[in-house]
Amino acid sequence: MEFIDLKAQYRAQQDEIDSRIRAVLDHGRFIMGPEVAELEEKLATYTGARHCVTVASGTEALLIALMAAGVRPGDEVITTPFSFVATAEVIVLVGAKPVFVDIEPDTCNIDVSLIEAKITPRTRAIIPVSLYGQMSDMDEINEIAARHNLVVIEDAAQSFGATYRGKRSGNASTIGCTSFFPSKPLGCYGDGGAIFTSDDALAKAMREIRVHGQEKRYYHTRVGVGGRMDTLQCAIVLGKLPRLEWEVERRIALGTMYQDLLASVDGLVPMVVRSDRTSVHGQFTVRADAGLRDTFLQRLSEAKIPYAIHYPTPIDQQPAYREFASPEGCAASTAAAGAVFSLPMSPDLSEADLDKVIRALKGN
Ligand SMILES: *Cc1c(COP(=O)(O)O)cnc(C)c1O
Repeated sequence: MEFIDLKAQYRAQQDEIDSRIRAVLDHGRFIMGPEVAELEEKLATYTGARHCVTVASGTEALLIALMAAGVRPGDEVITTPFSFVATAEVIVLVGAKPVFVDIEPDTCNIDVSLIEAKITPRTRAIIPVSLYGQMSDMDEINEIAARHNLVVIEDAAQSFGATYRGKRSGNASTIGCTSFFPSKPLGCYGDGGAIFTSDDALAKAMREIRVHGQEKRYYHTRVGVGGRMDTLQCAIVLGKLPRLEWEVERRIALGTMYQDLLASVDGLVPMVVRSDRTSVHGQFTVRADAGLRDTFLQRLSEAKIPYAIHYPTPIDQQPAYREFASPEGCAASTAAAGAVFSLPMSPDLSEADLDKVIRALKGN
């Protein structure tokens, strides 16, 4: 069993992907070829956002979003410490200060009730992370942001395809950023990402920042980056789109099966998925009772079942980010880092695979 089975996924759509790749090799427009605009149009339609801007990675998506939103040195950006490091990294890269707000223990997403106390006159944006494939309380976050004139940037790197109160991930706030890193719910075969917005001015700014801030060729109206997604990677994502809806539904179904099966495993609870949203289980993550994680991991190792820990150290405790930790700390995030682990998850897992994982967790 693979932790994420990309080979089975490729075999299932090999003809489509191969012919998409060959088409790019034939026309030879490797940068900003026709597949780039085609993918942007299809992804915008899928999410419901007016604009999609493809970029070099999920990290670049977040960076360009912050630059387009005008976040500058001295500003503060509220986010969660329980995420992949890129979420906070981009805040520091634009010279702003990450302000960490603790998480809810049952979903590991940002705890909305703690946000308002952290807003200061310098706060410019909030970056909620749709961790493990489930969106945060976006309506409440958007309301807080509206009251304080802040931009909300959803880090949707793990949640492409998920919904919240009928809205697709990426289209539930001013800006949404996703990643096409191979292991994400919608992946390419290298690095790639996309930004979504329905704000015309922001979309124009993002398109310019993506290509060195140029408004037209060799005319630079703002400081940008080299942040394009190449044509081949866009073609690969296009080759995967026909199966996307099936994969999203399959991920949701596998998540429910896992949850039901885990009810029979003592000392382990899966993440809670709230009733007004879906999770695409970018990772299928569970939480072990105090002191039991090592026992479960040992059992998985013995049964040769791969696992991962997302994430073993919260960002506010990483050496490069400790200076941004709040004096009171983030207790729920710290506790989660010591208790969670992720089980194999990808749309091509079988029911028999799930049974094998559950048997291993039970130690028999
Ligand atoms: C993967 C990930 C990113 C970064 O995406 P890349 O494409 O690897 O740059 C950012 N945030 C979260 C939550 C992620 O999981």
